[in-house]
Amino acid sequence: MRNKRRRAPGLRKRIGLELFARLHADEVAAHELRTLFWECTLRCNLACRHCGSDCRVDPGVPDMPLEDFLRVLDEEVTPHVDPHSVLIIFSGGEVLVRDDLERAGAEVTRRGYSWGMVTNGLALTPERFRSLRNAGLRSISISFDGFPDVHNYIRRNPLSYDRALEAIRLIVREPGLAYDVITCVTGAMVPRLDEFREMLIAEGVKHWRSRSSPWDAPRTTNHYA
Ligand code: SF4
Repeated sequence: MRNKRRRAPGLRKRIGLELFARLHADEVAAHELRTLFWECTLRCNLACRHCGSDCRVDPGVPDMPLEDFLRVLDEEVTPHVDPHSVLIIFSGGEVLVRDDLERAGAEVTRRGYSWGMVTNGLALTPERFRSLRNAGLRSISISFDGFPDVHNYIRRNPLSYDRALEAIRLIVREPGLAYDVITCVTGAMVPRLDEFREMLIAEGVKHWRSRSSPWDAPRTTNHYA
């Protein structure tokens, strides 16, 4: 019968493990916060087929009050970071359903943070966009999943493609705004991705990210259109 007792690791292995443990501890200690996401609502003005969260028009969960978020920021985050090197991203749900988004943006800007948001673009009118910019909006990501037949099917809204495209046209023309267009690629779009990329380029899009649908293994690819 074989002896099943484990042998103690040899000297070289022990040194290697200790070295790894120290490097890992240093890495954890040095890990600096660069991006902070605030999922500020579960409400959404769409009900997409591929939605990975519990977002809906009325999720039955009230939004976190802005004051609560600011208190956490002031007490738990700001003492440990340089706000000027941290980007706060407002995400959801759909952030534009919050009517205090401008106030949230102005408050974090006043504290020295940059801020951005992720949106489906449905409610991004030129007026709302301008008021968000006036509140310090620095970056924006817009979801755009394909040509009208695909996008509107996934998003379950016949207006969603046109609205998202109008929003994209606003942001690509805006000086000093960091942005990207995010495409959740489903099977129907796979053979049309080159054509879609050409369309985005024609619209002036320079930053495009795609990821496979949540039905597949999540994977993100950066493209520069
Ligand atoms: S827009 Fe986003 S949050 Fe809203 S239902 Fe679609 S995937 Fe979910």
